[in-house]
Amino acid sequence: MKVNFETEHLIIRPLVPDDADAAFRWCGDPNVNTYMIYPLYHRAEDVRAWLESRDADDPDNYDEGICLKSTGELIGSGGMRYRPERSAWEIGYNLRADQWGHGYTGEYMTALLDVIRRDRPVEAIDGIFAAENSKSRRVMEKLGMVYVRDTSYEKLDGSQTFPAKYYRRNFLQPADRCLICERIEMIRNGSNPYFVRELETGYVVIGDHQRFEGYTLLLCKEHATELSQLAPDFRNAFLRDMAVTAEAAERAFRPDKLNYELLGAGKGRHMHWHIFPRRNGDTPKPGPVWQVQDMNDDRYLPTAEKLEELKSALGKELDQLCG
Ligand SMILES: [Zn+2]
Repeated sequence: MKVNFETEHLIIRPLVPDDADAAFRWCGDPNVNTYMIYPLYHRAEDVRAWLESRDADDPDNYDEGICLKSTGELIGSGGMRYRPERSAWEIGYNLRADQWGHGYTGEYMTALLDVIRRDRPVEAIDGIFAAENSKSRRVMEKLGMVYVRDTSYEKLDGSQTFPAKYYRRNFLQPADRCLICERIEMIRNGSNPYFVRELETGYVVIGDHQRFEGYTLLLCKEHATELSQLAPDFRNAFLRDMAVTAEAAERAFRPDKLNYELLGAGKGRHMHWHIFPRRNGDTPKPGPVWQVQDMNDDRYLPTAEKLEELKSALGKELDQLCG
């Protein structure tokens, strides 16, 4: 698929046959070729023949030229190809050896992913790289991909086989967005300001709204709806983690009574514990919190300072209880 766009340092454009000489600088470099499946090119004419034979309009293949914005030079090529058997876009690239180490591949792939996602839904991206190739691992990690399993691959001419790692990142589709999974994803990538502590089976967070001061949640690591769907050992550990979370909230926030409630939310109703510290007279009538209509009103959003205070008080107790 032909696309043109720019990133901070790069210009991305379709490859043309006249790129053969520039491309030969990496296609013919044994150093660049070490982990590639295709054989080393020995003549620029062969690179031209390859460039002429490509179907640059294939909607399932974004294989573009990577140029330096500062000089206009073509320094590499690559992109993402759709693999229907894995419902994923596989990343692949080559970069001229003298251009390694600047983060250009990650910069390009991040932008390309956005370009593709504007056009069509992307379920996942994946990649396979030689276990000993740490540069590629860093590119995968930059793209938010995580290790899935060991594998291996062979050069097209069968001359070499490499032990390899399979990395993948799944994207939630709008139809199966799960609010709780999204919050957990934010915790995992370090962008959830409410996160307090990871336990064996879940994540402890402070509630967004603090109509009931000290309102705490435990998000189940498994995307499951009912306790009966959990493996017995996991279920028991989840119940224990809930008890520990509640005890920490009790010690940190000193309520008159705690309310414990296991609810579901999001697609498939992902279960999570609500722990409400209750105080005498905190609702118009005695009874559960849900009689209060304005619990999620913005005026109950804690200030950054207050949030830190709540997290630190709860975190301290959890540290003590968890040892
Ligand atoms: Zn979920």
